[in-house]
Amino acid sequence: MSGAAENWREKELSLREVVAAHPQISPFVIIKIDVQRRGVVFSQAAKDAADPARFAVTMRGIYEEKEDNIPNSLLLNDGTSIVCEPMDPDISVCPRGREPYLVEVRAGRTILTDLDQEVAEVEYWPKPRYFDCRTGSGKPMWQIVNARPQRLGIAMYQFCDFWRDAAQGCKFCAIAATFQKNKKDMLLSEDDVLETLAEALKQPGRLRMIQLCCGSMLGGRNLLDDEVDMYVSLLTRMNALFNTKKVLTQLIATAYTEKQLRRLYDGTILSSYTADVEVLNEKIFNWLCPGKAARIGYQGWKERLFKAVEIFGDNHVNTGIVSGVEFAGPAGFTSEEQALESTLREAEDFLSHGVGVAQTIWQTRANTALRRQLPPSLEYLTRLAGGLDNLQRKYNVNTFFDDYRTCGNHPNTDLSRI
Ligand code: SF4
Repeated sequence: MSGAAENWREKELSLREVVAAHPQISPFVIIKIDVQRRGVVFSQAAKDAADPARFAVTMRGIYEEKEDNIPNSLLLNDGTSIVCEPMDPDISVCPRGREPYLVEVRAGRTILTDLDQEVAEVEYWPKPRYFDCRTGSGKPMWQIVNARPQRLGIAMYQFCDFWRDAAQGCKFCAIAATFQKNKKDMLLSEDDVLETLAEALKQPGRLRMIQLCCGSMLGGRNLLDDEVDMYVSLLTRMNALFNTKKVLTQLIATAYTEKQLRRLYDGTILSSYTADVEVLNEKIFNWLCPGKAARIGYQGWKERLFKAVEIFGDNHVNTGIVSGVEFAGPAGFTSEEQALESTLREAEDFLSHGVGVAQTIWQTRANTALRRQLPPSLEYLTRLAGGLDNLQRKYNVNTFFDDYRTCGNHPNTDLSRI
C-alpha cells in the first residue's frame, strides 16, 4: 500500500463501525489504535491548556525529540495511554494518508475530535517532578531519563550502528534522522543517569517500572559485546539504588547469544527481556531490517528469544512488532486477510515457546524511508490486537512487564486487563 488514501472514509469501516463490530474489544483500545494510525494535532486552545508546570511537554527519545508546549501524549478516561507524538498540522509534511484527529477544548473540557464530532475526553500526561531538575553536570534531567505516566525510560546509546551503513538500517526507523537533527551526545553518562534515577525515585507512588531501550551497538570481541557491557555496567551500579536481587526492569535490546543473556540475568537486577523482531514474516523482515537479517537472521532472532525464556523464565520475555508495516511495498502483503492469517500463525509459534508479542502501531514518521506509505485499515489492526490477545490467553503468556499498567503502548496487551 502506498500514497495518500483518496476517499479513504468511503472505503474503510469507520471508528464507530469497528467498535460496534468488536464488542469484546475495549472501545478505548480501538480509539488508541486509530489515533496512532492516523496521528493527532492540537488546536491552539488545546496547546494553551498544556500548562508546562503540570504536564509533560518535553521529551528526548531515540525516535523523537521535542521541547515545546505541546503535550507529549494523551490519556483516555479509563487510564489507557496513547503513545503518539503530535504531528505537524501541515499533513503534506507528514502525509499519513488519512487526516489526523484533532484535540480541542470545548466548554472547559479537552476532547479528541474527528469531523467536528467528539470522540473521547482526554487528559495530558502528568509531568514527573524530576523533569524540572538538573544533573550535577548541568543537564536537564528530562533529557536523561524519559517518562510515561507509569514508567521511566533510559536510552544510553542514542544512535544505532546498523545506520552506520544507511542500507542496513530498518526502513521504518527514525533513530538516525532524530540523532542527526538534534545534535546530541551519542552516549549518556552513567553518572547523569544514576543521579536522575535517584531523583525520580523520590516521588512516591509515581512510577512502576524502569525500561532500558536504545539503538544497537554492534562492536566488541563478539558481536554485541559492547552493548552488553554497557548494560551490565549500568545495571550493576543501579543496584545501589534498590539493594534487592531483582527489580521490575525491562531491557529492549538486540537479540543476544545465550552467554550474553546469562551475563545479564545472572549478574544484574534485570528481570525481563525484549528483542523486537518487528515483523512476523521472514521475507518481509529481510527486506525491512537488512542489518538484523545479515548479522543475526530471522531464525537466529527467534532461537535467541526462545533461549531467553529458559533463562529469564515464563512471562519475562517478549518481542515487539510494528503492526501494519507488513503492508509496506513492494515486499509487503496486499491482502489484509492473508496478512492477518499469516501474522497470527507466526505469532502462535512465538507464543507456544513462551515469547509474548507486543503490538505497536506503525506510525509513518516524516523522517523515515516509508513516510509516503499507507498503514492498513483500523479493522485489520483491531482484529490483529484481538487475535494476539486470544493467543496470549491460549498459551497463558502474561507479559506483565509490558502491559497496560506498566508500558501502555500495546493495544493487544492493553486487552489483558479484562
Ligand atoms: S535495530 Fe532497527 S529499529 Fe532498532 S534502532 Fe536500529 S535501525 Fe532502528
